[in-house]
Amino acid sequence: ETGAKSCAGCGAKLQTASADMPGYIPEAALDKEPPVCQRCFRIKNYNDAASVAVDNDEFLRLLGSIAGTNSLVVHIVDLFDFEGSLISGLQRFVGNNPVLLVVNKIDLLPKGINPNRLLNWAQKQTKAEGLKVVDIVLCSAKRNIGFERVIESIGRHRGDRDVYVVGATNVGKSTLINRLIRDYSDLERELTVSRYPGTTLDAVHIPLDDGKEIIDTPGIVYRHRMTELVPRSVLGALLPDKPIKQLVYQLNAGQTLFFGALARFDFVEGDRQSFSIYASNALQVHRTKLERADELFANHKGELLAPPSKEELEEMPAWTRHRLNIRRGTDTDIFVSGLGWIHVNGAAGALVDIHAPKGVRVLTRDALI
Ligand code: GDP
Repeated sequence: ETGAKSCAGCGAKLQTASADMPGYIPEAALDKEPPVCQRCFRIKNYNDAASVAVDNDEFLRLLGSIAGTNSLVVHIVDLFDFEGSLISGLQRFVGNNPVLLVVNKIDLLPKGINPNRLLNWAQKQTKAEGLKVVDIVLCSAKRNIGFERVIESIGRHRGDRDVYVVGATNVGKSTLINRLIRDYSDLERELTVSRYPGTTLDAVHIPLDDGKEIIDTPGIVYRHRMTELVPRSVLGALLPDKPIKQLVYQLNAGQTLFFGALARFDFVEGDRQSFSIYASNALQVHRTKLERADELFANHKGELLAPPSKEELEEMPAWTRHRLNIRRGTDTDIFVSGLGWIHVNGAAGALVDIHAPKGVRVLTRDALI
């Protein structure tokens, strides 16, 4: 119990239960005066912004409050989970403020992909989602690729505005913010806790040299992303950290691929053809006959078919089946939010089933690669 204490940095109610929720403070730090949550402490002391997550309602309330400000909204999405990490309806919430889309984690794609092609693809998808943006920038916050373009674009579109940074969890927002802080503000100078004005938004305000601020908002938790449904121990296998090597499978109709025990792909009908898997290479893909797939899963889930382990599976929603008809003549990705995608070469057409934990977003889209 932390009493009614609030963080002197961001104003969040202090709590010791959950390290990735707002206001988390380690037990040992509770008696410090003034009390500061771990996130503000890190920002202040190490220039290290850490992730904080909030639920949908709280996040939408926070987004809605941006409409009344004069700001540049920097929306970070994860290229590896583009549709899953795009904030739907962002346009409505931020009012007339310009939105800059930063597409992070481009380092994960196989080498040799034309950036202009990626950019065109991202532009088309963004438009299709009804999001109007002033610019789209590709980058890798972690590998320091394209970061000057991010800075340049923010500089160009910011004018004399504050900068709100919004995104889903695990898109690399903290990594990017840390770079922005280093680039933008001179934290060598004395920086006291009081410089972070208290706010009910649980957003962290980072002062810029020109008197404006970068406002780091909590990451929104989207339950339609596989990454949000798995236990933490499985996250390492799901989130790739090296460029993905696509796995190409030549399959006949009646064959099945298991992705650990996280999802299953059935090739139901169609001519023999190749399917290219773009998923973390830490994930085990297991091929079998469709007619044996149910039995294999029943007998080997959590063991041969893992992760997740047996115990972890019990905490996750059961699978639902998505039937997808891939039309002839279109290069298509079967996208499973948080897991990756399966590229289907458009020559032949195919009928496929995806089994994935209930709630996980499954869709087809124009091929990314
Ligand atoms: P946040 O939850 O949005 O603040 O995301 P974090 O900055 O904490 O990053 C989430 C995960 O993605 C971490 O494992 C990071 O190491 C990783 N990450 C962040 N940026 C990149 C990137 O550009 N490329 C890759 N491959 N991983 C990244």
